[in-house]
This record gives sequence, structure tokens and C-alpha cells, in this order.
Amino acid sequence: MAKENGSETKPPSNLPSAPAETNHTREAAGRCRVLVIEDSVVDYKVVEGHLKRAKGVDFQITRAERLGDGLEHLSRESVDIVLLDLMLPDSQGLETVRSVRAEASGVPIVVLTSAEDERIAFSAIRQGAQDYLIKREVDSDLLVRSARHAIERQRLLRELEQLAHVAAHDLQEPLRTISGFCELLQDTYGGKLDDQADEWLEFAIQGARRMSGIIQDLLGYSRIGLGDDLVEPTDCTVVFDEAVENLRAAIEENGAVVTHDDLPILMGVRTRLVHLFQNLISNAIKYRGDQRPCVHAAAERMGREWLFSVRDNGIGIAAEHLGRIFAIFKRLHSRDQYSGTGIGLAICKKIVEIHGGRIWAESEPGSGSVFYFTIPE
Ligand code: ADP
Repeated sequence: MAKENGSETKPPSNLPSAPAETNHTREAAGRCRVLVIEDSVVDYKVVEGHLKRAKGVDFQITRAERLGDGLEHLSRESVDIVLLDLMLPDSQGLETVRSVRAEASGVPIVVLTSAEDERIAFSAIRQGAQDYLIKREVDSDLLVRSARHAIERQRLLRELEQLAHVAAHDLQEPLRTISGFCELLQDTYGGKLDDQADEWLEFAIQGARRMSGIIQDLLGYSRIGLGDDLVEPTDCTVVFDEAVENLRAAIEENGAVVTHDDLPILMGVRTRLVHLFQNLISNAIKYRGDQRPCVHAAAERMGREWLFSVRDNGIGIAAEHLGRIFAIFKRLHSRDQYSGTGIGLAICKKIVEIHGGRIWAESEPGSGSVFYFTIPE
């Protein structure tokens, strides 16, 4: 645990400690190990030529013609950056990025693509790639700048992740002290002081609880998409049932009926998808109307993606707010009306986006809400 004066703050032990020679220092020293995963010899030769012409950086280049060979290399050797063609003989599109991320989550990726595939390349950034370049437009300067930028961005992300962990430990600890002593005061002196003192103590305890909730949610939010997620075949029925199980108390307390149609098996991050359903179902119950809450999930195939819906019969949302509710800390009600931190739907959005999908809501006040999201097959 970090010390409270902050002078000896260390990352928590579950984070990999910084290697003696980081990507950053190696790159700054002028050496950079690049893995180019590219099946076309012509395209590879162009990239190789650009890298070799670069001044000030000695690019040590390894080529893999297939994704499988690239993954095998990544499992054996450290590299500073991957330059990745998305259309390989053994893998196509975003799946290619996901596989590289799964094998080497901390390694920056720059996608090399044709102009026709620019849309997919852009989505690749949501899957964790740092940048994309259109092959025809690349020259040596652009490629080197992009590679350096990608390495630096990845380093900053890692620092941010560590900062979040450190903040969790450093803030939670004094906060626990504050709420612990306030509760002790309440237990020992509650009812023995005047009414105002009791009320102020209660306010202090509630405030500390709220702050703890916000820190936890914020940390949860900041961790999504930072790299360690395992993408695997995921049965959404199992995921949905797990979310329901986690919400058992709220469901029983509200007499809620939670149902679903057939849900697909897809490539996804299981724990994140549980979190996604859990947030949507719990909101559907929290923002309930007068009648018994009914929540129903469904999925249908739309071209190359799955369209999910989570429908409720709650209070609904006015049209003018529908675009804003996914922003972090955006709440439509005061704390007195409904508890919450305003991070739940921002987490949903981030989870859907790391899967390469979109999320939105349709609703009318008094007529319930439907939350839609897509996940590419
Ligand atoms: P929180 O619930 O903590 O306020 P969220 O990010 O989960 O934060 O939701 C943001 C806002 O969107 C909520 O404050 C609420 O006003 C609205 N909202 C979310 N889900 C629903 C729902 N199912 N029905 C009605 N309003 C909702």
C-alpha cells in the first residue's frame, strides 16, 4: 500500500513493474524493434524501404507473412511496435487487431490499410490500435512519425493506468480512515450530542460512501480497453444469466421480471459483457415506473453484426436527453431522487466500443426505454 505522504508511492504489486529498459528508452536510444505483419511482398518492401531510410532510428525489422507467424513471434520475442496489415491469408479485418492485442496487449499497433478499408482501419483504433495509415499515402517521414507517436501514446496509456491504480490505493486508504472514524464517532457518541451533530456526522459518512463509489466506478471505467482483456467465444445467454445473478437482490426487492430471447455466441470479452448487461438491467430496475419492472433482452443478426436490445417499462427518457446520457458523469436526476454516479452508461459505451460496436437509446417519458447496441460477429 502506498504511503499517505505520497513520497514513496509505488504501483501496486499486481502491475508488471517497469522493465529496466523500457520501449521508450530503447526508442529514444535510437533502436526500435518492428514486427511487420504483411503478406504482400511488394507492400512489405515499400514499408521496409521507408523504415530503412529513416534518420536517427535504427529499425530492426522482422517480417511475418501470416497472422499465425506474427503471433508466434510475439509469444517468443519482445517488439516495440507492430505494423499490421488487416487483410492476411489467415485473418481478416478487426479480428486481426484483436488477436494481436490478445497476444501482446502492451505493444502499440499501427494498422496499414488500403483506402477502401479505411472505415475498418478506423474501427481498429477502438479495438486498441494506436493509429492507421493508408498504404498509398505513406512516406518515410509519416511512417516514422506515426510509429513514434504510437509508442509514446502506448507509454502514456500505461502510465495513466498505473496512475489510476495508485490513485485507487492512495485515495481509498485515507477515505477509509475518514469513514471509519466517522462511524466510530457515530457508534460512540450518536444520540449523546445534539441533533445537529448527529445529522452532520451522517452527512460526513454518506459523503465518504459516495466518494468511494465514484472512485471505484472511475477506476473501473479507466481500466476498460487498456489491454489485458481476453477476447474469446462468449455465450451471451451465460453472460446475461450471470448479470441477472449479480443483481438478484435488486430484482427480488423490486419484484422485477427479467427475460430474454435466444442470445448469440460471439467473440467478446466475457467479464465486460456481463458488466454491460448488468449496468443496463440495473438501470432498467432503478429507473422503474409505478408498475412491476419488466426487462427483456433480445438479439438479431443485422448483416455482419448482432443488434442487441434491452427493453424496459420504466420512467423513460425525454428525447432531448437521449444523446447525452452516455457521457461520463451525466445524470438526469438528483441524488435524492435516484442514487448513482453517472458513470454506468459511459462504461457501457466504452465496453461496446472496444468490441467495435455502437450503443444508443430510444425512449419516451412514461413509455419505457430501449437500449440498443451492436457487436460485430
Ligand atoms: P446513473 O444511473 O449512475 O445516474 P448512468 O450512466 O447509468 O448513471 O445513467 C445516466 C442517466 O441516464 C441516469 O441518471 C438516468 O437519468 C438515465 N437512465 C439510464 N438508464 C435509464 C433507464 N433504463 N430508464 C430511464 N432513464 C435511464
